[in-house]
Amino acid sequence: MKELRRSSQYTPENPEIIIVGSGILGSAMAAVLARDGRRVVVVERDLKEPDRIVGELLQPGGFKALQELGLKAAVEGIDAHCVRGYVVHDIDSGSKVDLSYPNDDSGNIMTGRAFHHGRFVMGLRKLAQAEPNVTMIEATVSELMEEKGNVIGIRYKRKGQDELETLQAPLTIVADGCFSKFRKSLVKSQVSVSSHFVGTLMENCPQTKANHAELVLTPTTPVLIYQVSSHHTRVLVDVRGKLPSDLKEHVKKVSVYMPANIKGPFLEAVENNRLRSMPSSFLPPAPLLKAGVILLGDAFNMRHPLTGGGMTVALNDVIIWRNVLREKLPDVRDNEAVLQCLKNFHWQRKQNHSFVVNVLAQALYQLFSAADEHLKKLRQGCFGYFKLGGRAVDGPVELLSIVSPEPLKLIGHFFAVALYTMYSTVKSEPFYRLPLTILLCSRLLWKACTVILPLIWSEFYTAMRS
Ligand SMILES: Cc1cc2nc3c(=O)[nH]c(=O)nc-3n(C[C@H](O)[C@H](O)[C@H](O)COP(=O)(O)OP(=O)(O)OC[C@H]3O[C@@H](n4cnc5c(N)ncnc54)[C@H](O)[C@@H]3O)c2cc1C
Repeated sequence: MKELRRSSQYTPENPEIIIVGSGILGSAMAAVLARDGRRVVVVERDLKEPDRIVGELLQPGGFKALQELGLKAAVEGIDAHCVRGYVVHDIDSGSKVDLSYPNDDSGNIMTGRAFHHGRFVMGLRKLAQAEPNVTMIEATVSELMEEKGNVIGIRYKRKGQDELETLQAPLTIVADGCFSKFRKSLVKSQVSVSSHFVGTLMENCPQTKANHAELVLTPTTPVLIYQVSSHHTRVLVDVRGKLPSDLKEHVKKVSVYMPANIKGPFLEAVENNRLRSMPSSFLPPAPLLKAGVILLGDAFNMRHPLTGGGMTVALNDVIIWRNVLREKLPDVRDNEAVLQCLKNFHWQRKQNHSFVVNVLAQALYQLFSAADEHLKKLRQGCFGYFKLGGRAVDGPVELLSIVSPEPLKLIGHFFAVALYTMYSTVKSEPFYRLPLTILLCSRLLWKACTVILPLIWSEFYTAMRS
């Protein structure tokens, strides 16, 4: 059989593909490529269960991708929580809106999953390790080996050892996460950090609506809340700029805006449990500068975690590469073919999922953290738009859940929010102030353009250069 023939050409000492990092992307990629008969070596610096405040809510679009990859078992037996949508609380207006996920073709509501990140990663690693074609090495990769400008393998140190070892393969997939060591030698794009998410775990916190995550829009900052297991609920408070030295006191101040059911468990958690922070980074995708290597996951592309889209992007990228390798790259030693596939990959992922996830997360964060008066008005307009219901909810929820991530739909709804904000402004102002109202409306439209146009540009500029 073709598959057996392919794997027999390679051995664990001489693999076809090396994967750096066994997080969400690396583990999923290893499992599916091995099932397709590729001999894979995964090098992960720490095979213990990770304990992090990232990657805990998998949107329905990501859950669907997980199933398509045949990796659904990774969320089974880990006390994962089923998520059916969001409740958004607007503190300014004192009201809330229900953003339940859309229905599938059979009329059933689509669902996502929330879990302890480490348990999910261990589930994915277990699936990868169960494949005879996968060899997992616990080691830190220190260098990408190059020959004539092409990546030909890695240098690494096994855990607890000082000796530097080498491993060569025709293709190396680098998925070493948000603090990637190798990114800067492979792409030109730069990471920017707008804020940090400060997180803690609440115990036995009642939900406002069963199986719904919550987004609290306080006057200054958005707060995300979602149950991750039977007894634990994650709360993430966005802190703009540098983290203050009195982090606990700073975070506690948010409690005045918390819904009544959450306030008690929140204060208790901030007081007694560990507070941890992670940067909320933005990294637009950019073309690769070298052959023999593919950069993926957070190492390649990041967006604000407000909309919980990172894992869905990673899993959908795995789907694209699995199909590309199956259909177009029987021989990964063909550098020209790999480079052509990389070019197509940039466009395909944009149309498929990544444009919407990247632009939506960054744009919503700017609106919801409302750094000036115009953004505040747009935020109010956005909330008012959701309250209209019908398509004004269905469309944005299809984008947020990543079940129908169409770029034009996103741009359409974004400008619909801007127009609705202008309409509400005109309605609320007396007639004699019309000239000033027109001026304000033009400023709102301009503001909306300054939010979305640079994001669109960041997506297409980088793709056009590939
Ligand atoms: C605060 C926060 C909250 C988030 N919440 C969500 C959410 O709810 N939903 C969602 O979908 N996304 C969320 N994300 C994004 C999500 O966590 C990432 O998109 C996802 O984890 C990326 O997967 P990855 O495989 O690229 O990286 P990771 O999962 O970070 O994996 C990288 C792996 O590489 C290993 N590694 C690193 N360097 C080396 C080396 N030199 N040698 C060997 N191994 C190495 C690491 O140990 C790690 O195991 C969040 C992000 C942040 C910052």
